[in-house]
Amino acid sequence: MLFKDISIFDGGFKLHEHQYVGVDTSGRIAYIGDGAPADPDAYGEVYDGRRKLLMPGMFNAHAHAPMTLLRGYAENLPLQRWLFEMVFPFEAKMTDDDVLPAMRLAVAEMLRFGTVGFSDMYFNSDVRAQVVGESGIKCNMSHSISDFAGARYADTPFKGINDHLISAYHGAFDGRLLVDYCLHSEYTTREPIVRDVAAAARESGLGLQVHVSETRQEHEECKQRHGGLTPVQYLEACGVLDVPVTAAHCVWLEPQDIEIMKAHGATVATCPASNMKLGSGVPPIPRYLDAGLRVALGTDGPASNNNHNMFQDLYLMLLANRGVDRDPVGITPEQALTIATANGAQAQGREDCGKLEPGFKADLIVLDLDSPWMMPVTDLARNVVYAANGSDVVLTMVDGRVLYRDGEYLTIDIERAMFETQAARDSIVSRL
Ligand SMILES: [Zn+2]
Repeated sequence: MLFKDISIFDGGFKLHEHQYVGVDTSGRIAYIGDGAPADPDAYGEVYDGRRKLLMPGMFNAHAHAPMTLLRGYAENLPLQRWLFEMVFPFEAKMTDDDVLPAMRLAVAEMLRFGTVGFSDMYFNSDVRAQVVGESGIKCNMSHSISDFAGARYADTPFKGINDHLISAYHGAFDGRLLVDYCLHSEYTTREPIVRDVAAAARESGLGLQVHVSETRQEHEECKQRHGGLTPVQYLEACGVLDVPVTAAHCVWLEPQDIEIMKAHGATVATCPASNMKLGSGVPPIPRYLDAGLRVALGTDGPASNNNHNMFQDLYLMLLANRGVDRDPVGITPEQALTIATANGAQAQGREDCGKLEPGFKADLIVLDLDSPWMMPVTDLARNVVYAANGSDVVLTMVDGRVLYRDGEYLTIDIERAMFETQAARDSIVSRL
């Protein structure tokens, strides 16, 4: 595709107008310039970019996509009761047949709102891999591990599952699907499996997804359980931070935790909607950025958000710290957009993704600028973070392939996914 006469954000989210952007058949950005490339016919369809913005797509750094089934199911409870009294019993009834349509619906929603890749922690992993493959989206998929018995990793079913997932799917679909290890959290695991999974991840060179210091209660109870060690300090002591870690939430990090995370190159996946909806708190993201810690953005699951709309989380992230800190500066629009795009790609280990630059993978979205809330333009980045909606996305492209365009889901039967997800939800609830 050749985008013609379109506004673009470069790697630093500076605006360039009337640009040509060529995406070649390998799915990479091959040309960016003020004029047409010398060989315009080599790019296929010419896309009229007038009154449109082309920018890097969103990388959702923390999701539980099949929890789309639980959208609106468990409300108004603190995290521990929400999880143990509502979510876990519902999940115990879920099968692959339930997860399949929910996964398709989740990916459709992500594509609709401009997400090109996501990090997903859940179960039913063959089904999730199937949907990643057929839909065309990118995913770092992790199979969630919880263990309350003090078991060794090799003695649990998780080792067989992970070994299968890694051999079957790591690097599948031209590298769109990567497999990460997972520990659900400190409070849902015991030390033997934490150490074993860290060692397995280290040996394989894969990343690891984990929930960290989401609530104050969880954070303080960890310190009581582990001789004063915070979740970050405990995970470091167990070797978890020796691998590329994406730590979801990190609402309650202490100053020493920030230094440890930074020293190990770990990523904070902040989930502002989920943290505020569940009353977990507001993490001091400006302090994390000042300390040089990499921050990415996630939606968390639809049971606690209740959507996969990264534009909404972007907006909430920007505003939450300003409100809490009574500071009208906080995170800049350019920082926020980098957090939602390039930082998420880096957290996934995708060094050639997340930026609109020649040679990068064409994981791109187009926003319609022809709407009342996007005019006038003083600084387009400000309009995008404060005024735009995910529904302003009119095209989503992954690896150069258009997956969503003008209301059409080109790889997903959306009517069927919606119908089957509702039927699956109704069936599970009737059996509870
Ligand atoms: Zn989560």
